[in-house]
Amino acid sequence: MHCGICNSNNLKKLLSKNSKDEKRYTIYKCISCQTVQVYPIPDQKELDQYYSAEYFSKRTDRGYDDYYSDSMRKELFRVWELNLKDLNTWDRIEERNGRSLDIGCAAGFFVDFLKSKSWDAQGIEIAREPIQYGRNTLGLKIHEGDFLMWDRGGQEKFDLITLWASIEHMRDPLAMLNKMKTHLNPNGRVVISTCRYGLIANFRKAQWRFLNVPEHLFYFGWNNFLNIMKGIGFKKVGSVSYGSGFTTLKDASIIYRISKSIFDPLVKWTNQGDMMAFSFSLEYEKEYP
Ligand SMILES: [Zn+2]
Repeated sequence: MHCGICNSNNLKKLLSKNSKDEKRYTIYKCISCQTVQVYPIPDQKELDQYYSAEYFSKRTDRGYDDYYSDSMRKELFRVWELNLKDLNTWDRIEERNGRSLDIGCAAGFFVDFLKSKSWDAQGIEIAREPIQYGRNTLGLKIHEGDFLMWDRGGQEKFDLITLWASIEHMRDPLAMLNKMKTHLNPNGRVVISTCRYGLIANFRKAQWRFLNVPEHLFYFGWNNFLNIMKGIGFKKVGSVSYGSGFTTLKDASIIYRISKSIFDPLVKWTNQGDMMAFSFSLEYEKEYP
């Protein structure tokens, strides 16, 4: 097998773990680039089936309406503002009314947030139900489809592209990150959060809360991820680490993918947290601060 990031065949086995349907997966670490990855990587069809099964079993009676109450909306907006301040990206959002794209936006709560700041805020999502809610109830601009297949000519340009807690789910993260670059305006920003393979992961091993096979396919360390981004041509503008690794969200609902990125900041801990978020500019950008 080869590393899904740097193509090296120098990989070290870390551990094995069974999925909920009792399939055995092995977790490897690439000796060359340090990326931790699952083997075998299920094909897209298998993943789609897995997610739709997961989606229906996790579904509760509460819909988006219940979840997205006024108080929840206010709290989310507060937390995102704090996050973006930590990432040295908040000034940008207040100063400019740019175009933004949230990849894997679900019902578009983050899109709604930027829209409330007078941005031309857009999202892209695969799952139909949240898209309907975002479009019809919140009046948001949400594209339906897979980002990798969308606007393949790279015509659409943005000033801010966000990817909250999704890169770890992707079969080809490098293609994803490269595509984000092609859609970024010269002075734009990219914000990415993901789980972090670091101290807590090494300590908890197979019990680590993010070691979900096969939902999570790639796990990055702090420097590991920064090196990958540098290789693509991104420069770090801000970073933050959060999450104690011991918190669980009770009654996890259909939006659990979002909630990870929302509730974890509330337990921001030390620089060793098992979630990390970064903001990046293009390497050749000169004009900013
Ligand atoms: Zn590698």
